[in-house]
Amino acid sequence: MQKKKKIGIIGAGIQGVCNALFLQRKGYEVTIFDKREPGSSASYGNAGHFSPYASVPLNRPDVLSDVPSMLLSTRGPLALKWNYVYKMLPWFYSFVKNCRENKMMHTAKYMHQILDLSLPAFDELFEEINLDGLIEHKGIMYVWTNKSLKSRDLEINLRNNLGVKQRLLSPKEIHDLEPNLKPFYDGGVIYDYARHARNPKKILIKLFENFTSKGGKFLKLNIEKLDFDEEKPVIRSETQRFIFDKLVIACGAFSKKFTDKLHENIPLETERGYHVHFKGYENLISRPIVYADKGFGMTPMEQGLRVVGTVEFGGLENPLSKSRISNLVLNAREMLDGLPEHNDEWLGFRPTLPDFLPIIGPSKNFKNVFYSFGHHHLGWTLGAISGKIISSMISDENTNLDLEPYSSLRFS
Ligand SMILES: Cc1cc2nc3c(=O)[nH]c(=O)nc-3n(C[C@H](O)[C@H](O)[C@H](O)COP(=O)(O)OP(=O)(O)OC[C@H]3O[C@@H](n4cnc5c(N)ncnc54)[C@H](O)[C@@H]3O)c2cc1C
Repeated sequence: MQKKKKIGIIGAGIQGVCNALFLQRKGYEVTIFDKREPGSSASYGNAGHFSPYASVPLNRPDVLSDVPSMLLSTRGPLALKWNYVYKMLPWFYSFVKNCRENKMMHTAKYMHQILDLSLPAFDELFEEINLDGLIEHKGIMYVWTNKSLKSRDLEINLRNNLGVKQRLLSPKEIHDLEPNLKPFYDGGVIYDYARHARNPKKILIKLFENFTSKGGKFLKLNIEKLDFDEEKPVIRSETQRFIFDKLVIACGAFSKKFTDKLHENIPLETERGYHVHFKGYENLISRPIVYADKGFGMTPMEQGLRVVGTVEFGGLENPLSKSRISNLVLNAREMLDGLPEHNDEWLGFRPTLPDFLPIIGPSKNFKNVFYSFGHHHLGWTLGAISGKIISSMISDENTNLDLEPYSSLRFS
């Protein structure tokens, strides 16, 4: 009998776990490594949106003109840690180049290609686990004021062109759907077929337990080194060494450490995001609501009302910013009356490339290493489809998708 091929995966976030499940289905012997428990990083604290509609990227012409005013406002969606700015200059430079209309259209098209397949891919994995009460099918709503109409029009038109289903809402319709929202809004949209997680970590753990119940292995180790024995990847923690036929790097915002070792200069940075909970206040709304002008949202979750979002550029080492937490709390109070003191203050790291496309595919220099990272604001939604694509690539199967736009070669 032929021996099963061994695959190592570094990272037990949503990317690592979904990669593991699809690879296991194809008959590989899979081991996941993480320095923390599964689902402890970005995949824990996100807004829980499954957003198959979200193909309009953040690299777009209108964003550039809005950035200065966003940075000057303490209540706005964007902030910088000034001690980190100089380290991000190359990323900013590349981001600005990617804000041209043709680049925006390219990203939108190829985000749409995978987002459109994201829910069916998750459904394949969800078939095998009991998710009672953990996923809601009530859609995701965005609201805005007339001050941000120009940007909202761009998004609505672009999504229409891509064939994304959306239902525009009048203020009365918003009120009828979410009567507790204060009437600050002038319009909105709902994506009826979008879903939300009531507890992303619990869902991830259910997927992970399904993986281990079928013989998948997990080792809680910090992987420090990566080299090769002949062509086989070898990874090392402080005290142990492991050799695999193939290796998947799924370390989210922490992946650059490994791609640097593999001699690829990939401009991966992090967009830091935050959340707080208002415990016991989740019933104030029925579904996730995003306040588009301010770049944050509220999701009803098991832990309470999760108020989540904002983008802060500041790398992986800077501490949590209290000003970003107050920004979330004040913004939430602008949307809902009667919120008490908040609980839990969380900072997480979105893994983001300057063209806002993920990297899904083989490494440039080592054919037995694959990448699944860089999914920025959509890594939760794109977990299953990315895992499915990588498992097909590793098995040399045709996906009938155009996968070149996700290749790391675009940065070489
Ligand atoms: C505030 C916020 C809100 C968000 N909301 C949404 C949303 O609503 N919908 C959506 O689709 N996406 C959302 N996202 C994005 C999404 O959460 C991320 O893109 C996604 O979780 C990334 O998953 P990942 O598996 O790539 O990385 P992670 O979840 O960060 O996992 C990476 C793992 O790698 C491990 N690791 C790193 N280095 C090593 C090492 N050397 N050795 C061993 N292990 C290592 C880490 O410990 C970690 O567990 C949000 C993100 C944030 C921050």
